[in-house]
Amino acid sequence: MNAVLSVTNQKGGVAKTTTALHLAVGLARQNPKKKTLYIDLDPQRNGTDVLLKESDFDAERTVFHLFQGNPVTSLQLHETEQKNLMVIPSSLQLVEVETMLSNALDGFFRLNENLAPLANEFDFTIIDCPPSLSVLTINALVAARGILIPLQASKFSVDGIQGLVNAINTVQKRYNANLEIIGGVFTMFNERTTISQMMTEEISQNMKLFNTNIPSSVAVEEAHLLKQSLYDYAPKNKVAIAYEQLTKEVYNVLQKIG
Ligand code: ADP
Ligand code: MG
Repeated sequence: MNAVLSVTNQKGGVAKTTTALHLAVGLARQNPKKKTLYIDLDPQRNGTDVLLKESDFDAERTVFHLFQGNPVTSLQLHETEQKNLMVIPSSLQLVEVETMLSNALDGFFRLNENLAPLANEFDFTIIDCPPSLSVLTINALVAARGILIPLQASKFSVDGIQGLVNAINTVQKRYNANLEIIGGVFTMFNERTTISQMMTEEISQNMKLFNTNIPSSVAVEEAHLLKQSLYDYAPKNKVAIAYEQLTKEVYNVLQKIG
């Protein structure tokens, strides 16, 4: 089984990267006999920066290689400090993908097709999407089995969510019948605010929501600065504990659909 999960929302700053990282590290920690892969599709490389030490990110060794039309090789797979977790890093060159693939008939399929050599290598693959509904994100949706949508109450926009759901439905109809939204997750959540209550009601009419909400803590930013996961930086922090719970929920869903 290689259950591919895309962490997607076209809004920036809703904790896609934080969530994708803590799910990937969480799955690797909670399942020591399984292999997890993290793929960074954001040219800003925030996830890559946390998981990888300084090393040479030449184009051959990043996910850009796959978008150029080449199957993945061991060169693109980087070890991380977390046992059983590997990463395919992003590169700044990803900003060129949109133009590069604008006339390519197979533009939406590059990631999926070029990941094929890994079909039996990993148990879980987590894809961190950029903050856009660009060709990179569509590639992630074509390659994925499940989508998890991080939602931030203060960045609430029904239009935005509807646009995302429409794009997902289109990909599902035309390119990837297996694709499904496994659920939304509230991040930087403060249950006491009116907006979070309003949003919970509104969203739950259209989408399954995970039971776990991710609270807010300055420890998240601190851990990112030190290039650590919260599990290492502050294992007893409420956000670390919430992400551990979310990882278990996600694991159960992936077992069912994978
Ligand atoms: P995205 O990938 O959607 O753009 P990020 O994961 O990069 O979002 O998070 C955006 C910002 O919010 C980052 O500065 C990050 O450190 C911060 N952040 C994410 N999750 C939390 C949290 N639970 N509490 C506090 N800050 C958070
Ligand atoms: Mg991000």
